[in-house]
Amino acid sequence: MPNPVLAIVGRPNVGKSTIFNRLAGERISIVEDIPGVTRDRIYAQGEWMGRTFDIIDTGGIDIQDEPFMSQIKLQAQVAIEEADVILFITSVREGVTDADEHVARLLYRSGKPVILAVNKADNPEMRADVFDFYSLGLGQPYPLSGSHGLGLGDMLDAVIAEFPSSDELAEEEDIIKFCLIGRPNVGKSSLVNAILGEERVIVSEIAGTTRDAVDTSFEDDEGTRFRMIDTAGIRKKGKVSESTEKFSVMRSLRAIDRSDVVLMVLNAEEGIQEQDKKVAGYAHEAGKGILIIVNKWDKLEKDNNTMKEFETEIRDEFQYLSYAPILYVSAITKQRLSHIPDKIKDINASQTRRISSSLLNDVLMDAIARNPTPTDKGRRLKISYATQVAVKPPTFVLFVNEPELLHFSYERYIENQIRKNFEFDGTPFRVIARQKK
Ligand code: GDP
Ligand code: GDP
Repeated sequence: MPNPVLAIVGRPNVGKSTIFNRLAGERISIVEDIPGVTRDRIYAQGEWMGRTFDIIDTGGIDIQDEPFMSQIKLQAQVAIEEADVILFITSVREGVTDADEHVARLLYRSGKPVILAVNKADNPEMRADVFDFYSLGLGQPYPLSGSHGLGLGDMLDAVIAEFPSSDELAEEEDIIKFCLIGRPNVGKSSLVNAILGEERVIVSEIAGTTRDAVDTSFEDDEGTRFRMIDTAGIRKKGKVSESTEKFSVMRSLRAIDRSDVVLMVLNAEEGIQEQDKKVAGYAHEAGKGILIIVNKWDKLEKDNNTMKEFETEIRDEFQYLSYAPILYVSAITKQRLSHIPDKIKDINASQTRRISSSLLNDVLMDAIARNPTPTDKGRRLKISYATQVAVKPPTFVLFVNEPELLHFSYERYIENQIRKNFEFDGTPFRVIARQKK
């Protein structure tokens, strides 16, 4: 079951990272820098009263050269999109500022649960000033002192009370989440409208999301539920004011983070470009399911070889995505659009597939018999046992005599053998070598 998510927002210097560090136990991941966007140390895991949750410090999302207000606005949007509960931090030393009021309005409109914390209330006199923050209209302000570690318990009790129940989180897990990623004009919004036009939309605007972030849920004939994560408001063309390149890359990355399956949309007329590769690489690294969609297929003069040639180019440019299926579609003529939901379902199934250790080891032993393990300086790699340790993405551990002896090419061979024997279409997976004790 996924953990509930707590996002921390607030203007610079109120003490967000101080509080994040206090709440953070284990760090979840550090994502490498994408030019112009820093995403350092923004995720961690916390625990309170036996409840584990993920924490995002949106203050760690730094978009260089963007004006102050638009940075804060983006951070608040990330929190609104991703969090179950938002921790809004202010500071009693500066009192209520214009920026606080601005953020409060965004959060209020979102309908998400917000816990208002007033930091730097280091002594009792200051705690009295905390009442001023009722004016933000977000309910009871919780006084904190991040640097002294005061007030955290009461604040966390309030946070936990707002988390969704286990039942709600389990139900959420059954929904397949996907997003469409691609450069401007490849046809993302046309595809979205065409897909949604064919399916039964069950909730058009999820309560609690802003007007800028619209996720749409629908259900297919078999009752499978999907949620389309909207990227940078692709359904609201023209109404989205900020659309600098950095913003759109940033939003694409966030959408990928929230998705199970990423639809990488290409334009048949333009082929593959550098930005496509970056974004696809990110999805691959994040272990997401990937479906490549070549849109505007109607625009090409085709002969018997066109599809083959296209596939060769795609496989060439995206070598690491050899597992990703390709669909050639047209949003205008609706050619093959009906295959999209089925493919998303297949890929999601690959992502969550578990292979029993006995089957896996049969395949592994067979693979080793046909292609003996490599040697290095007289030492031979010995693989004793394999087991699948995770899904999303499927992750396999090989217990070996010396992990350094598992070279990339042999790892690749094992990966291919597993793929040949089991259905892992559309998902990356991980193979990890561990020293056998
Ligand atoms: P952020 O920009 O919101 O992440 O804020 P930081 O966590 O970096 O904190 C900004 C400054 O405020 C640092 O100098 C902290 O040491 C200080 N600070 C954080 N929490 C408290 C607090 O509870 N009391 C006082 N007096 N200073 C604090
Ligand atoms: P987005 O920026 O990726 O959301 O792209 P749009 O959906 O706005 O499409 C950009 C332009 O391409 C519009 O003029 C669409 O009508 C056109 N378009 C989108 N899909 C197709 C397609 O499959 N075939 C053709 N011929 N045109 C398309």
